[in-house]
Amino acid sequence: MQNELLYGKTLNELKEIVKQHNLPGFTAGQIADWLYKKRAESIDSMTNLSKKARQLLSENFETGVTLPSKVQESVDGTKKYLFPAHKHLFIEAAYIPEDNRKTLCISSQVGCKMGCLFCMTGKQGFQSQLTAGEILNQIRSIPESEELTNVVYMGMGEPLDNIEEVLKSLDILTSDWGYGWSPRRINVSTIGIVPAMRRFIEESEAHLAISLHTPFNEERQKLMPIEQVYSIEQVIETLREYDFGRQRRISFEYIMFEGINDTPAHVKGLTKILNGIRCRINLIKFHPIPDSPLRGTPHKTMQWFCDQLNNKGITTTIRRSRGEDIYAACGLLSTKALLNDDK
Ligand code: SF4
Repeated sequence: MQNELLYGKTLNELKEIVKQHNLPGFTAGQIADWLYKKRAESIDSMTNLSKKARQLLSENFETGVTLPSKVQESVDGTKKYLFPAHKHLFIEAAYIPEDNRKTLCISSQVGCKMGCLFCMTGKQGFQSQLTAGEILNQIRSIPESEELTNVVYMGMGEPLDNIEEVLKSLDILTSDWGYGWSPRRINVSTIGIVPAMRRFIEESEAHLAISLHTPFNEERQKLMPIEQVYSIEQVIETLREYDFGRQRRISFEYIMFEGINDTPAHVKGLTKILNGIRCRINLIKFHPIPDSPLRGTPHKTMQWFCDQLNNKGITTTIRRSRGEDIYAACGLLSTKALLNDDK
């Protein structure tokens, strides 16, 4: 049986472990320092811990850091890393370099249960939650780890469907005793699970991105089954209850489907539901997936849609598509596809 893993534990959890093993209280801070600042790969390498402490810890724990098992590189420099997760499953993370910005798009679940019509991960179905350690390991274990400027929780899975582990990972990522990242460099995306979204807003300071895709309920229901549980109005009304301050950003992700959500009525509908919310809209090119009738809106129409929204006072941009050739672009992550490549 595998020992319990230290990587992914919060300072409070480490304090608990130290207490249970009758080790001095300050050992918890030392372990956190080794795990998150000094990037220790083994308990033995934590040399300022007493020999007794290292021995006791090694009997019951291991660090639990895991290197990627496969990498694919796109012609545009995007890289897709495949990581083993527990239960012999796999997840993907996409590294996206762009001028001074080096972003890693990380996964929060193996697969996803939300069934959005346009998404490969949704087609894969849900296999497992990731632990905070598995979420953070994607950031820690790629060769470009120390160059990263931004992290987005927009890979496989719905982050707020794994709220406990996602909040824990954010705590470790942003605390002084952890990685010490500014929450302003982190963006968490959700389809709008309202109770978990409240917790995220209240317990973290990271930016929030909402997958919107259409302002109209019936249409959204067809694209995203979650609309039947939490309507987009409910999501937006919830956002209105909070003061995000000037530093914290809300953005809306809008994948564009030809003839479906790219009309003047959609511009009008978006302007109406987002009235008074300080936000931006990111328009995203749809990357066709197998067995789907959906097609992407042509670039010219996307530009028109973008201009219309900007003219109405909603800051809107078209997000550059990256890593299409290696299935790393938005909506294309799926460990099944990658693993099948090997067959
Ligand atoms: Fe899940 Fe996000 Fe894909 Fe929807 S878009 S199925 S929430 S991973």
